Amino acid sequence: MDTSIAYDVVLLPDTDRAVAYRKRAADSGCSLMGVTVAAFGVWVRDLWELYGDGRTFVSRLEREALLRAACEGPAEGGCVDSENGKRAQRDGASGRCELAEGRIADGACALVGDSEAGALGLDRVAAACVAAGVGLPAFDAAVRDARQGVPAGAGALEGVTRAEVPVLRMIGEYLDRLAQLELIEPGQALALLPELLPQRPLRVLLEDAAPLTPGREAFFSACPWMGVEVRAASGSQGPVRAPEGVRVRFAFPSGQYAWPALLADIVRDALGAAADRGAAPAAVAAPAAAEVPAAVAGPAAGDDGASSCEDASGSADGYRDGRLAWSQAATVVVAAKDPAVLFGRVAPALVRQGHAVALRGRRRFADTAFGRAFCSLRRFLDEGQAGGVSHIEGYGDIAPTDVERWDRVDLADWALSPFSGMTRKAAFKLDADMRADRTARRSDLCARLRGDNPMFAAMERLALQLDAQAAAELEAAVRRMTNRSEAWRAEQLAALRALQRAADAAKLAGLGADATFDQAKRLKVNVSRIVAPRGCDGAALGAPDVLMTDQSTAASLGSGSCKVLVATDLTSAAYPAADSEDASRVLLEHLGVKRADSALARMRRAFFALEHAATDQLIIERCLNDSSADPTYPCVVLEEFVDCYRDDPTATEDIDNPYSLPEHLQDGMLLRGEDALCANDALSDAPAPEAARIEPPLTGAVSPEARSLVVLPRVLQGGQVLDEPCLSPSQIESYLECPYKWFAQRRLRLDDLDEGFGPLEMGDFAHNALHSFYKHMSEDLGEAKVTPQLLAQARELMADVLARHKALQPHLRQSENRLIPTSQVEHRELAELEHKLMDYLDFEAELLPTFAPKYLEYDVACGGAVDYAGHKLLGTADRIDVDGEGRCAIIDYKGSISGSYALGVREEGRLGKVQALIYAQVVRRTLGLEPVGALYVCYGRRKMISGAYDGRVIENAHLPNMRHKDCMCADRPFSDVLDETEEAVAAALERMLAGDIRPRPETPEACKWCPVSSCSERRG
Ligand code: SF4
Repeated sequence: MDTSIAYDVVLLPDTDRAVAYRKRAADSGCSLMGVTVAAFGVWVRDLWELYGDGRTFVSRLEREALLRAACEGPAEGGCVDSENGKRAQRDGASGRCELAEGRIADGACALVGDSEAGALGLDRVAAACVAAGVGLPAFDAAVRDARQGVPAGAGALEGVTRAEVPVLRMIGEYLDRLAQLELIEPGQALALLPELLPQRPLRVLLEDAAPLTPGREAFFSACPWMGVEVRAASGSQGPVRAPEGVRVRFAFPSGQYAWPALLADIVRDALGAAADRGAAPAAVAAPAAAEVPAAVAGPAAGDDGASSCEDASGSADGYRDGRLAWSQAATVVVAAKDPAVLFGRVAPALVRQGHAVALRGRRRFADTAFGRAFCSLRRFLDEGQAGGVSHIEGYGDIAPTDVERWDRVDLADWALSPFSGMTRKAAFKLDADMRADRTARRSDLCARLRGDNPMFAAMERLALQLDAQAAAELEAAVRRMTNRSEAWRAEQLAALRALQRAADAAKLAGLGADATFDQAKRLKVNVSRIVAPRGCDGAALGAPDVLMTDQSTAASLGSGSCKVLVATDLTSAAYPAADSEDASRVLLEHLGVKRADSALARMRRAFFALEHAATDQLIIERCLNDSSADPTYPCVVLEEFVDCYRDDPTATEDIDNPYSLPEHLQDGMLLRGEDALCANDALSDAPAPEAARIEPPLTGAVSPEARSLVVLPRVLQGGQVLDEPCLSPSQIESYLECPYKWFAQRRLRLDDLDEGFGPLEMGDFAHNALHSFYKHMSEDLGEAKVTPQLLAQARELMADVLARHKALQPHLRQSENRLIPTSQVEHRELAELEHKLMDYLDFEAELLPTFAPKYLEYDVACGGAVDYAGHKLLGTADRIDVDGEGRCAIIDYKGSISGSYALGVREEGRLGKVQALIYAQVVRRTLGLEPVGALYVCYGRRKMISGAYDGRVIENAHLPNMRHKDCMCADRPFSDVLDETEEAVAAALERMLAGDIRPRPETPEACKWCPVSSCSERRG
């Protein structure tokens, strides 16, 4: 730097660089007395304040909101079709102008393809055009002509397509509105200032300059009294070799698991022995460390350390003033794509080892704790969520019900956030209550929370009404969260303020909460913090040991500002060289507004600055595989940098390796694989001390001590406790299907927290309806059996039963497996079930005509427990039909039936389904009836029967839709089948009570709906 400044004004690309320039001047003893050093945008704003007409610069948020309002609102001359003069149709959900959007997309697609053009809303296309074009004569003339109805292709609209004219017209409306609000675009001010400025000589230096935009170029051309010197930023032509004395090394973690560990290694090595700052070594201190907002450590104490900003493009507003807070630079600077993520992964380990680590980066509003909570609650409260009709194969067009419009997960996320004011226990209880109750209504939940949770009430008012008082209440609440670090609170306050700014912009434009929410989701807030080892005052440090920041901030630190610079994430995906092409770019090109700069040139300048920031080492890191384990590729500047060290950059053989490096650059390469899982996770290769040894759990068997608990004591009717093992036929059947599945389902009860709407609930509904139907058959019609003659009455009765049962469901307890449909699809599923039950009556009329239902939902143990297979048994048989000869058939209702229900499976050496056979044996003993059938009757879509029956007693014709040869027992007494079943069950029960719960599926079908997800024996 010159020791005397020969300029009146020094302009830099951004405020960070302006601050760094002033610091360098101060360090080198150069006086800046009378010299203005500022970012270009800040300087223009100051000039406008001094010489302008009193209007205020519009902010980016205000611009976007006003343009959105211009797009949505009914303002005169808005989105009008220039051909037919009709207003464009608006999409109610998005609030966007369909016609104009469609057209701009069409026009843009012709040039840039569908994806880019379709990705932008019309208001955002217009906002990008305004930011780049307003103030330029060609652009202003095109806007004027578009408003005056000049057709596309004529006058100033030459080259403009019909699709683009509505955008220009909308911009015209926006500029009118801006004037009404006494606001002005920076581009307009730049065009007006040459007329307003005093014409006295001014020496202006554009230092470290990027190519001038057309607006800036026009400004300086219109101010001939200014002597302007441009010192272009170095590096636009591409990287050069690193400065003499700087060692270049390459680092390649093989994947995302190895990435933080390798970076921690690199930083540790770079810091070396510099860890000792006189503080207690953090490696032996508690992991919790002092965490303060970084900026309080430096001269810019006014900055809250996590001050919010609107966007990277808002840097001209000066929001980053004072962020370079420390008096000295960090020893190691890490330039990362997302420094906040890196900081979260790596900083705690470095702090434990005694290093002070600082972060300067930006976080999406929605990624801050406040933003996450706010977005979750907003989604929960949003009436329109999941709106629209969808077509589902087999179900037709389905409209969502109210319950489908909100997601319980959103409220649970909010409840578990620090902004719910709830304890974790209360939050989990709220979640469990919601999930266990399908009838939970959003309005009831809101009313309940509003009543006893002031945080909810405030956040609700903010989310729905943008209430300023609510924002103040939340701000006060954040300040009271003293159990959180100061930096955390600063970040949340920054997020809250960013939201308020979006709300202010929306209010200015007359928009509602929707617009604020949309804008807020795109906002980013600055995050900066320093964590230092316990006992070390981070705020008092001259500089942190490590600074993690983004590439642009690292590049602005200046030449020789750190010992080691680590440039990370240098992949083509993280730093693409291509400029984004969208509809705004196409429109500007049609108007002759050229791009002044390019993404590649910006990357080259940044990389050049990074190369020169380090005095000792430049470490270049590229993860070899991305999070999907796909290979990554070096970004363009990295390839160019490597080419600087190659004799023949056109050759390919020398870099045909995973690192894309010639052999001589592979010297000192830093590698880390993903195989060392624990070391990678701990960010240390030091062997982890063994805190405890836990034996792997015993699977497949119950330990001898717990064996007595394999079957829990039962409480019988009347309160009597039965200590000896007592099982139900369904439990026995489940054990026979697979012992481990039985254990998981019946003993561990791996049930879902959510109240279901599935086979269990459907089955209970059908069973109850059929039970009720037969009860009323005999009570109301005086008939026990459905016959062809009674079908009409039976249908009437069934319709009545189904209606009453449906009405009853919401009044049942959740534990009664009530069937509550909450979506249109579920309503249709319920209607289908009713249909099946109604159709079942025709089948029933043909079934067992010589028998009649006598026992319905019959408790075979009559309130106690009966003996079976050497143990106690209880259970309820769905139905027992009896004939005039004292013979009976056990009926078990099923929604569907598989091959395992037939007696014939015994020929394959397995027992198959046994429930009905068990009931038959018990009934034989307790009721003295002679069982001749144990039948599974399916009321599902395909009415059919399976099971076992005595072929000598029941005619085949009386069992329609049955594979008689698989189910018939004709060669021996039916009682033999029952005895044989009891014997097999007795053997199985012995195994069960001995603790044998090995996974042993009887058929692959058993595994189909099994909740044991990590079973080594899973089949099918
Ligand atoms: S997955 Fe199959 S084998 Fe494993 S426990 Fe479940 S049913 Fe048994």
